[in-house]
Amino acid sequence: MPIGLQANVPVSGLSVSTSSRYFQKKILILGAGVTGLACARSLKSRDALVTLIDDSITHAEDFKVVPTSSVTDFDCDYLLISPGWKESHPLIVKAIKSDVPLLNEIDLAWEIRQERCPGQKWIALTGTNGKTTTVEMTAAALRAGGLHAVACGNVGKTVIECVDSNENFDALVLELSSFQLHWLKQAEFLSCAILNIADDHTDWHGTFDLYASAKISILDRSLTAILNGDDKEVVGRSSHWNGRKVFYSLNTPKPGEIGLVEELLVDRAFVPDPQEASMIAEVIEIKPTVPHNISNALAAAGLARTLGVAHENIREALTQFSPGRHRIEVIAEKDGITWIDDSKATNPHAAEASILSAFSVIWLAGGLAKGADVSSLIAKVHSRIKKVITFGTDRKLFTAAFAEYAPHIEVLEINPPADYVRGGVSNSFMEEIIHQAQLFATDGDTVLLAPACASMDQFTSYADRGDRFVAALQKALK
Ligand code: ADP
Repeated sequence: MPIGLQANVPVSGLSVSTSSRYFQKKILILGAGVTGLACARSLKSRDALVTLIDDSITHAEDFKVVPTSSVTDFDCDYLLISPGWKESHPLIVKAIKSDVPLLNEIDLAWEIRQERCPGQKWIALTGTNGKTTTVEMTAAALRAGGLHAVACGNVGKTVIECVDSNENFDALVLELSSFQLHWLKQAEFLSCAILNIADDHTDWHGTFDLYASAKISILDRSLTAILNGDDKEVVGRSSHWNGRKVFYSLNTPKPGEIGLVEELLVDRAFVPDPQEASMIAEVIEIKPTVPHNISNALAAAGLARTLGVAHENIREALTQFSPGRHRIEVIAEKDGITWIDDSKATNPHAAEASILSAFSVIWLAGGLAKGADVSSLIAKVHSRIKKVITFGTDRKLFTAAFAEYAPHIEVLEINPPADYVRGGVSNSFMEEIIHQAQLFATDGDTVLLAPACASMDQFTSYADRGDRFVAALQKALK
């Protein structure tokens, strides 16, 4: 729905309007984190009357921030919900009952795009794993093809900052989580990709089916979809959809698909004659050269092709690309032992991909499992595992699953030492984990931090967990 902005005047990166459907409207924003604050700024520039609601953040620039307990009735025109808030939260339940219109960042950004930059191309992707890597790859490919493009959403800037920006992007590549998709009502995409669907965030969505349905709903907002043909959930759950489907896989592609022919990534979808194939890149040019990352590169190539980027530009971008930190990052190789930081493996599906990329693994795992099923992972990968060092709130899940599926594998549980405080200066906890791994690792082993769990019980974030791993390792290997 157009918001009827007028008289846009760029002021410090935001376009300020004197009229919009939010002009002088009272808007409550649930969540004063990155998304909530970005929306607050944008709405304020449209002369909305914004109040943020948060129980842990008390100050956010010059906005009024109140705790949830102080919201007793909804004296407001709209309620904007930050993505992490559950639909079952009492305030959201109450807002729905009171017929308060709900907003979300992506739809708000879409409204602004319609008014401010209707030619801006939006493409989006989702998946349980590989989203950040693949949106970055895609944006790099679009830039190599001459488009002023940026990856945004769950990565880098918020979508609303990008549409409001004076940079006037030609294209946005949106990384969308299941939470964001859950709330979406309006935004539309020229093309989308679904990378994979596996157990994650069941605690938020209630069931795997609801989580998977949120992911699949991206199709209903897209004209073309680039779909992982190797993922049975993606294939099965997309079968009803009638838009243009382009499958990619690590197998030889049929006409109309993208895939691998021997050592090459090839396109048989976006070519003049699908009986022919065009080379995208050589497998060895994609780093790290592990199956799931080749898969990400195929998805990125497919998305870039939907905007007409030439194969040689895609190749140029992919060969220069390396994933962000804490994603299968080789930190050290010493005495034949490889030490890998894959702290970003926050669910079993991601951990599976990295365990299966190595042969003799000392596995550092544990944290908050978020309701995911750890035992199926262990049933699948235990033949690659030599020893397990487990920690965190859900460590017993690991101990129990190994006792059931691979009782011959030693599992060591580690509790934080007394002087360790989450977010504090002492790194004694990770130092102990590294020390135990060192006692056991021998030539040919990979010590892999791929915890299959979220980190927030004992670390401040996955990045903090990875940084502490690197610091402890550097100290130990000195
Ligand atoms: P996301 O944004 O979806 O969390 P990332 O690119 O940050 O994805 O990667 C998250 C984790 O998933 C990392 O541990 C990475 O090694 C792993 N990973 C990346 N791509 C895939 C994939 N296609 N399948 C399984 N795991 C993957």
